[in-house]
Amino acid sequence: MTTPRYAWQPTTAAIAARLGIPERQVVRFDHNTSPFPTDWAPGLVIEPARTLNEYPGADYRPIREAAARYVEVAPENIVPAAGIDELILLTAQAFLEPGGSAATVIPTYPLYRIAALQRRAQLFEVPLLAPTFDYAMDPLLAAAAEADLLWLCIPNNPTGNRLTDGDLAQLVFACPGVVVLDAAYAEIAGDRWGGWLERFDNLLVCHTLSKGFGLAGARIGFAAGDPRLIDALDGVRPPGSISTLSAGLAIAALDEPARMRRQVERLLRERTRFAGALGGLGITVLPSEANFLLCHIGPQASGIADGLMSEGLVPRSFPAQGPLGEHLRFTVRSPEEDDRLLDALWRYLT
Ligand code: PMP
Repeated sequence: MTTPRYAWQPTTAAIAARLGIPERQVVRFDHNTSPFPTDWAPGLVIEPARTLNEYPGADYRPIREAAARYVEVAPENIVPAAGIDELILLTAQAFLEPGGSAATVIPTYPLYRIAALQRRAQLFEVPLLAPTFDYAMDPLLAAAAEADLLWLCIPNNPTGNRLTDGDLAQLVFACPGVVVLDAAYAEIAGDRWGGWLERFDNLLVCHTLSKGFGLAGARIGFAAGDPRLIDALDGVRPPGSISTLSAGLAIAALDEPARMRRQVERLLRERTRFAGALGGLGITVLPSEANFLLCHIGPQASGIADGLMSEGLVPRSFPAQGPLGEHLRFTVRSPEEDDRLLDALWRYLT
């Protein structure tokens, strides 16, 4: 059996080279990253940059403490990693045996599937119900009741909707294994999960600095949960996957969440404007609690995606045969960048 692999998106440099345009003209509407430049960051890495001859302290105690203050739990409830992507692979390694049982929904973030298959585990993918992508609770509860590991993304990528708190509580209660809640978009949705960790000792909440905090290039995330789960992840994580520079940036960002909150407020205003303008083009925009909008475009979705790509506007498209074959997903970017996309869509649709 060949091992499943993650299919990387083409890089900005590769797209710019293919189109013969400067890299700054390429806009990533596919990565759900922040449009705000990190001009505030260089000053913060000058000090840590003086000691790069040494390894970062392998326990990353200062990040654990900053993350614990942010989530309002104890440092013993935190394990840091190089983004949620690393945490997804580590949760599979720690909590899934070959032949074990994993569950998630579909469509969702594709790395859960890859992590489960790489572990040679069985994976149960419970379909969300098109066209609104609501959760089918009966089959999901049945899958949760058999799962060693259940991955749930709230709000869900790529649909932007969420499982209700009541349904989440039922699933965590029903699952005999570990429930990994991927809270990548928590800052944008305004979610606080600290209180849930007191109620459930089989719940692990994964956070990232890549989305609301706008530090995708720094590669930092952390999981919060019961010390037993944290210890299991510590047992499989590499000793030094977070650089000293990234650790310094993460601590500064977590200790000053006001900057992130101001940026999220601006982004939410732009999401409302962008969604309204897409709707004005006759596109069906699904309600979203995240920094992206899933749009039903119709059978011409893949042709329009090609057209946008040829202008350096990179949408997220989906396999033609799957449930999202007629959809495109667009990250909410700056008003100027979004206007470029709207102008191009107007030309393709009229
Ligand atoms: N989980 C979800 C749901 C995501 O959408 C993404 C990024 N697109 C990630 C995890 C990866 O996050 P990180 O940058 O922290 O690895």
